[in-house]
Amino acid sequence: MKTKISLLLITFFYCCSLFAQNEFDKYFEKKSLRVDFALSGNAASQSAAIQQLREEPVWGGPVKNLIDKFNYGGYYVNVYDKASNKLIYSRGFNTLFEEWRSTEPAKTETQSWTNSTSIPFPKSKIVLEITARDKADMQFHPLLTTDVDPASIFIDRGKLKSNTVFQIQNNGNSSEKVDLVFIAEGYTATEQEKFVADAKRFTEALFATPPYTDHRNDFNVWAVELASEESGTDISGKGIFKNTALNTGYYTFGVDRYLTTQDMKSIRDAVWNVPCDAIFLLINTDTYGGGGMYNFYACGTADNPRTPVVFTHEFGHSFAGLADEYFSSEVAYQDFYNLKYEPWEPNITTLVDFDSKWKDLLPAGTPIPTQPDDAHKEKIGVFEGGGYISKGIYRPMDHCMMRDYAPFCPACSRAIVRMIQYLTDKDY
Ligand SMILES: [Zn+2]
Repeated sequence: MKTKISLLLITFFYCCSLFAQNEFDKYFEKKSLRVDFALSGNAASQSAAIQQLREEPVWGGPVKNLIDKFNYGGYYVNVYDKASNKLIYSRGFNTLFEEWRSTEPAKTETQSWTNSTSIPFPKSKIVLEITARDKADMQFHPLLTTDVDPASIFIDRGKLKSNTVFQIQNNGNSSEKVDLVFIAEGYTATEQEKFVADAKRFTEALFATPPYTDHRNDFNVWAVELASEESGTDISGKGIFKNTALNTGYYTFGVDRYLTTQDMKSIRDAVWNVPCDAIFLLINTDTYGGGGMYNFYACGTADNPRTPVVFTHEFGHSFAGLADEYFSSEVAYQDFYNLKYEPWEPNITTLVDFDSKWKDLLPAGTPIPTQPDDAHKEKIGVFEGGGYISKGIYRPMDHCMMRDYAPFCPACSRAIVRMIQYLTDKDY
């Protein structure tokens, strides 16, 4: 009897996975449609406009998990089949532009930044929608809706420069693996060997950190060699400017250690023919700093002594949508979280909807909020302070990688594992 039930169950799950795979084959080809778009605006409002569409030869993302159920990020790209109006693909992401919108200059200036997202290449006409989360109600609202005909002559189908791609580890089919891609930034043509050695060092640091330790086989890791004219990166606050491939620099929004780039087009150009679930810009300098935005990119420096943990912290933002759990360092944001609502990040809460967060992980009898006293400070709880402010936002443990480079707390670890499951086409 038992055997029969298991057989039935196996048949059932086999059919489910076959059905999901067929959904992909019905609507998509195994390559990418890259969508470059401008986000323009200021603190009060924003708008989006298509800049270019490109057919690119690889799709490394999931082929079963086509609908992103995380509800993370500040934006979603939604793809509808034009004929049936059915949602056939979705994915959330953050941008650096939305962070800029919460800085002081955005109250008086308007800017326009290039962003980019990739979707599986559609077989038939689609409706492409980009939505943005409004902090006033935390809901997503349409920002741009456009029809796309995959046969259009206005889709660029040209090749770009083929960079040398070094395979750090290859565990198999990209749809069933997380494809982590390091891109060289601020390495000259003669420094590419150093880049590959640095990327290998970072790979080891990541897989030495729980929960990644148990998931090494779920990852492919690639290193894209990209030559910069000059070594290093911009330090604009000190008058230092370098000619580099991805235009990175410190002093993002005026913060000395905040290292990013606005040049999303050059990043996407560098990975046009590489399967890609997560991008890390490895920057050839020894100054402390980094940055990371969910499903956008993360970056860090090669040679600072704290680099391996900074890398793991920033990758926590870009890979798993984790929030900063610290609350005492200088940042440029104002009112980054609306305390009337539950934030979307899995590792902070305003207690507005704590049931949706790590409440199920708390030991029975844990006081909410939790004091970081001897009885509780080493355990999971609900500790006040996080998300850049000391009052009204709570974090899961006193110390965590997302606060001060301690081991990941259980809430962060669970979020990382869920993201690995999603990107490797498992149930999540
Ligand atoms: Zn944490």
